[in-house]
Amino acid sequence: MRWTRYLIPTTKEVPKDATVPSHQLMIRTGLIRQLAAGVYTYLPLGYRSLRKIEAIVREEMNRAGAIELHMPCLQPLDLWDESGRTQVMGDVLLRLAGPKGDWRTQTCLGPTHEENVTEIARAFVNSYKQLPINLYQIQTKFRGEARPKSGVLRTREFLMKDAYSFDRDKAGLDLSYQKMYDAYCRIYERCGLPYLVVEAESGPIGGDASHEFMVLTDAGEDIVAVSESGDYAANTERAIAAPIAPSDDPMQPLEEVHTPSQRTIDEVCAFLKTRPGQMIKTLIYLRPAPSAPDSHAPARAAAPANPSPVVVLIRGDHEVNEHKLKKAAGGPLELAGEGVIQNLTGADVGFAGPHGLVERGARLIIDPAVVAMRNACTGANKTGYHVRNLNPGRDFPTSGDNVVVADVRNVVDGDASPTGSGSPLRLRTAIEVGHVFKLGTKYSDALKAHFLDQDGKSKPFIMGCYGIGLNRIMAAAIEAHHDENGIIWPASIAPFEVLIVALDPREADVMSTAETLHDELEAAGVDVLFDDRDERAGFKFKDADLIGIPLRITVGRKSLADGVVELKRRDSSDVTKLAPTAVKSHVLQVMHT
Ligand code: ATP
Ligand code: MG
Repeated sequence: MRWTRYLIPTTKEVPKDATVPSHQLMIRTGLIRQLAAGVYTYLPLGYRSLRKIEAIVREEMNRAGAIELHMPCLQPLDLWDESGRTQVMGDVLLRLAGPKGDWRTQTCLGPTHEENVTEIARAFVNSYKQLPINLYQIQTKFRGEARPKSGVLRTREFLMKDAYSFDRDKAGLDLSYQKMYDAYCRIYERCGLPYLVVEAESGPIGGDASHEFMVLTDAGEDIVAVSESGDYAANTERAIAAPIAPSDDPMQPLEEVHTPSQRTIDEVCAFLKTRPGQMIKTLIYLRPAPSAPDSHAPARAAAPANPSPVVVLIRGDHEVNEHKLKKAAGGPLELAGEGVIQNLTGADVGFAGPHGLVERGARLIIDPAVVAMRNACTGANKTGYHVRNLNPGRDFPTSGDNVVVADVRNVVDGDASPTGSGSPLRLRTAIEVGHVFKLGTKYSDALKAHFLDQDGKSKPFIMGCYGIGLNRIMAAAIEAHHDENGIIWPASIAPFEVLIVALDPREADVMSTAETLHDELEAAGVDVLFDDRDERAGFKFKDADLIGIPLRITVGRKSLADGVVELKRRDSSDVTKLAPTAVKSHVLQVMHT
């Protein structure tokens, strides 16, 4: 391909909102162009790379025995009602608008395809003899992401490979899951991505076990906890730590302290000369009203259905983990307003403490790190006062009716690995490039998707689902492989494998050598781009480094006079000089090692 006949709009200008390297570089190299917030065109160079990623993903899916099909973007809302997800998905589910009664009002754009694929299995997979089966597609997804971010890392329209496995039983699912897990590892390896597998939360997709494939990068929006020894890795949404050993300090007598204007943890700590790890945060929640049964209606603002508050206790230096709290509480909770807090504690906001609250009808959820504390500080349930030397068990119950001890906090840097190795956990920023879930019967139950088993009984499919974001692979690969001059593409997903730069395009000899090389390599199946622009050498080299094609072949007047051309890999500064006639076999050799 000749540069002058192609479209590679490289630029020095970077939009102000492009803060992460992959976003900046994808714009500067002319891989993508934003059309609207979270919506991008893949320009020719970017599309070539995306297609290569797609080919790798497809090959590995086929190799793992998955079968390709193609499901539609337009989906009837009725199907989402069957699974009960019309509401759960909230604003992420993009619906079409239209006059009342029009088909559009009953239609959405698919953010994922569990419902669609389960409907297909329900229609066509009737017997255990057809199982296991894994159906996949590579298809455009639409999501009403509130904050599209970081170029193509988070967009409202993106390409996903989604696979869905159907099995007779749990053991079958374990096997199907493992096959996908292994295929994912091969995909990321082949794409040149340094990845990490972590235990993950299932979120609104559902199911009971899942793993995320992460790439460590500051551009990511996830935080993962990884132990120094490497014996544990989990998304902080679900990461746990080894229990904190109980303090054996002797209990001191409870003491009330006047703290007239100190309400926040930091203010109180400074005043009482203590540290946040010695404080108990007393957070008061309520259970929201159940959502409206009318499923096409948007989720309503929740009103408290159950007036009895849930009091959550965590250490002052810890943060509540909403996923864990939801599980511990048996459903979602929302922070209570001022009135409820005043009613329960008899004090203004900022002075709540756990003592006496169970007696006033509250339920306590206590994080184990709080149970391990001695002589803690917290609010006194009296405006303008805090207490010192509050002791769990002595001053408030840690067991019995209306008391639950459950891990409801986020792990923090330095917590010990839960494996018992004692290895400290470190928190790292990461981007999720893939996710595998064991779904179980969530969708087959909801959609009544059953098969006839060998014993003659009708049973729901045991399902798994497996997603990979293709655009994210591309951006994450650039995050992982670039320098101050531009992208350093892994050869497997580079838009072109070889870039021929003609330094003196007005010289007939240079041009004919470059052209011959180009034609020879192209005929040998190499993806080759030929920079035939009539530009200065420095300018062309800058662009070559920017677009990051793995191998550069420079054809210039001077070196040709010596009978050679120069070969340089983008990831090294070494230059190899070869006679033009030796180039083809050399390129074919280095490309396959
Ligand atoms: P996230 O937590 O980052 O929003 P998710 O958990 O919603 O991701 P899944 O529903 O598991 O993502 O989708 C499977 C894969 O699709 C993800 O691992 C990711 O690679 C990709 N993906 C998800 N949302 C987006 C998006 N908005 N833009 C680009 N890729 C996405
Ligand atoms: Mg998401």
